[in-house]
Amino acid sequence: MNEENKISRRKVIGGLGAGLAAVAVGPVFGATEPQANAPYAPLSLQDPTSKYPKPPFKGQSQPWPGLASKMDPKPDHGETSYKGSGRLAGRKALITGGDSGMGRAAAIAYAREGADVAINYFPSEEPDAREVVALIKAAGRKAVAIPGDLRDEAFCKRLVDEAVRGLGGLDIVVSNAGRQQAHESILDISTEQFDWTMKTNIYAPFWIIKAALPHLQPGSVIIGTTSEQAYDPSPDLYDYAQTKAATMNYVKSLAKQLGPKGIRVCGVAPGPIWTPLQVSGGATQEKLKNFGSDAALGRPGQPAELASIYVQLADSGASYTTGNIYGAGGGKGQP
Ligand code: NAD
Ligand code: MG
Repeated sequence: MNEENKISRRKVIGGLGAGLAAVAVGPVFGATEPQANAPYAPLSLQDPTSKYPKPPFKGQSQPWPGLASKMDPKPDHGETSYKGSGRLAGRKALITGGDSGMGRAAAIAYAREGADVAINYFPSEEPDAREVVALIKAAGRKAVAIPGDLRDEAFCKRLVDEAVRGLGGLDIVVSNAGRQQAHESILDISTEQFDWTMKTNIYAPFWIIKAALPHLQPGSVIIGTTSEQAYDPSPDLYDYAQTKAATMNYVKSLAKQLGPKGIRVCGVAPGPIWTPLQVSGGATQEKLKNFGSDAALGRPGQPAELASIYVQLADSGASYTTGNIYGAGGGKGQP
């Protein structure tokens, strides 16, 4: 074989190899060069049964809607523990009930993941909301505080408008606010109370999502907070539990409706979580003292333990997750 032939043979084989490599790599869209991991310090294992306070808890009651700052023990929303890694950099989120509980845990985590965050809350929750605004700002992100009553359709529309204006757009909507009052008997639930629960838990998400939709670009996400109650309702939560079944259901229908538009719709189903909702009428004093004792982990969850779920569902990395509900039930509940 003369030199010219050798070269052309090498060229052909090399070219073939490159061609095969292209075929193998080609379909992996968005693939980049492999990245070396940073040298992480090993994390110590944490026993989930002893990580947080266990029952029995002190009896305590606050007028609705309650303040996290007045609870004993105070809930953990990740104030000192949540560490971000840029998963939501540049995103713009509206979170209802962002002053306390799961909404606050999501707000702190979103800000530390690089998102600007607008929170809604009931006007009397201003003290809790101020703490959240300070935490969002401390993370170097924009914080927009929009107090108001979600039972009012006109306010729900204004809420979305103000969030869009304040954030300069919107691509994450967390419909998390909720009303839960325990009543031993259906006979104890007045029409006014029933209406209050329905307005907060079913109408408000309907109004907010309708107002938000024209602003949501493909890649945006809507996240609803449902509950273990959607699947396994307690006898004293007749009205509340059915609203959580409705939330689970709207997540699934809207996901089908909005999937073709590139908008994902997901849900979070918490088990018993230590939040103001429970100490302001959501649970009886009896239930509160032993709150979470029937969970496999023997304690209630803390809002901080759900923060990473809200982050995961909002993250573009979860681009094939829609119409799905992620649970955090401590061993109870479905899914
Ligand atoms: P939380 O009290 O901290 O949050 C509920 C929030 O709803 C309040 O902070 C308040 O801002 C908001 N809200 C209620 N009515 C409102 C109104 N009319 N106008 C404006 N805001 C209003 O309690 P949480 O437990 O974190 O609740 C968040 C969500 O989690 C709710 O949807 C609740 O149903 C759900 N959830 C809670 C538990 C639990 O055990 N705590 C379990 C499953 C699901
Ligand atoms: Mg609150």
